[in-house]
Amino acid sequence: MSYLPIKQLLKASSGVDSSRMDSPVGTTVTVKGWVRTKRESKNAVFIALNDGSTIQNIQAVAEAGQLPEDTLKLITTGSCLAITGQIVESQGSGQAIEVKITDVVIYGTADPEKYPLQPKRHSLEFLREIAHLRPRTNTFSAILRIRHALAFAIHKYFNDNGFFYLNTPIITASDAEGAGEMFRVTTLDAIKPPLTEDGKVDYNQDFFGRETNLTVSGQLEGELGAMALGKIYTFGPTFRAENSNTTRHLAEFWMIEPEMAFYELKDNMNLAEDFVKTVIRYALQHCADDLAFLDNRLKEEEKTKKKEEQSELGLLEKLQFVINNEFVRLTYTEAVDILMNSKPAKKGQFQFEVKWGIDLQSEHERYLVEKHFKKPVILTNYPRAIKAFYMKQDVEPATNARGEVFGPTVRAMDVLFPGIGEIIGGSQREEDLDKLVARMQEVGIDPEAIWWYLDTRRFGTAPHAGFGLGFERLVLFVTGMGNIRDVIPFPRAPKTAEF
Ligand code: ATP
Ligand code: MN
Repeated sequence: MSYLPIKQLLKASSGVDSSRMDSPVGTTVTVKGWVRTKRESKNAVFIALNDGSTIQNIQAVAEAGQLPEDTLKLITTGSCLAITGQIVESQGSGQAIEVKITDVVIYGTADPEKYPLQPKRHSLEFLREIAHLRPRTNTFSAILRIRHALAFAIHKYFNDNGFFYLNTPIITASDAEGAGEMFRVTTLDAIKPPLTEDGKVDYNQDFFGRETNLTVSGQLEGELGAMALGKIYTFGPTFRAENSNTTRHLAEFWMIEPEMAFYELKDNMNLAEDFVKTVIRYALQHCADDLAFLDNRLKEEEKTKKKEEQSELGLLEKLQFVINNEFVRLTYTEAVDILMNSKPAKKGQFQFEVKWGIDLQSEHERYLVEKHFKKPVILTNYPRAIKAFYMKQDVEPATNARGEVFGPTVRAMDVLFPGIGEIIGGSQREEDLDKLVARMQEVGIDPEAIWWYLDTRRFGTAPHAGFGLGFERLVLFVTGMGNIRDVIPFPRAPKTAEF
């Protein structure tokens, strides 16, 4: 049976004028969806139906006594209906049109004693416990539609700019970061695995004949693609077994990793900035209803906070602000100087002390972005010791405003966003085989283990660069949500894999 998505119906009726040729007023339609609310007055029954195509509900109206009592009883919040009726101009305020019911089919009831979603505001914590049903709320359906729009915008951006979508493996035998924190993939018997002579698990007998894990990044394979296709991007699931219960980390997340031949650090920064601005602009243009809803939701939430903790900008203002302002670009060395001379450093308010060489903590990143610059920031040229082996080594030493010299550094770049901290991490890559191998040996990575990666430097090497954007961190920013577990349909985090 055909039906009309509510989004399409409401679009056709926007600025309703029954004299217009294409007005749906007067036509008979069937809509299908889930009941958000049912309200009965002396003369009529009002049903608000939502089918997920838009945050807007369609109101369906029956006269009192029109629907049989036992049908009416089954129409409760969460039940699923097909409603057929005539489109009329609405008498009430709040909607331009409504459906005058002629027929109702009940697909599925939802016992109000048992159905956990009721027409009131539920806490996000509670909704996480019923992640299988939360897409039926306004907040989560809005987030999921925005998530979709951003994913689409990302593919569109790269396609429009001559990038090829490259699918890199999910099961890998390499650890791109050389940092552990991986999920093992095995078919060996968990209780009695085969052992080698010296008592270790014998992975030669495992499915792939070697130790394998879920990928932490598609970059290394992405570089192989860039050295053939020029500009590629990956967009796929990424796994990190880091036991960090933060609001910005998931164990399973989606990462976008463009990799470009002939790009240097500056080109990489320009791309990252243009890319995030473009996809945010796309969301503003295509998700206006959903963003307005979340903007409002955030404003209500802000009101419950103390004055000094309230944010200065609303969600829409914040998104506009990001797309309309240039990101600040400065070196790690300059940033450390700013941090060391900052009020919180002088008052001992940072939990982690700042000095050249440390890995900046979230509190430092947020100070720079939210207090000092009040803009997104791109930090570059980090200490070599805290970054991955494949980053291009700087030749020039780093200096601060007073001419003090530091180093060595690498051509890394992190993009820092308000409320999020690091949203993008990237670098120009070391294209010189000897320097790359020397660095691997220094940090204890066996060059033989990724001989295929090093072949890019052996055969037709070229300057190249790339970055990784955590998709959920972007969705977090665009939706204004506070916890990364609320911007992915079914979050995976320590002790969380129910749904
Ligand atoms: P962080 O310091 O925030 O843990 P990272 O330095 O480990 O980030 P990268 O290895 O550079 O991050 O990964 C690239 C991007 O992937 C990050 O900028 C971030 O947007 C995202 N990301 C990294 N780890 C996670 C995670 N556990 N959950 C969600 N997104 C992540
Ligand atoms: Mn990390």
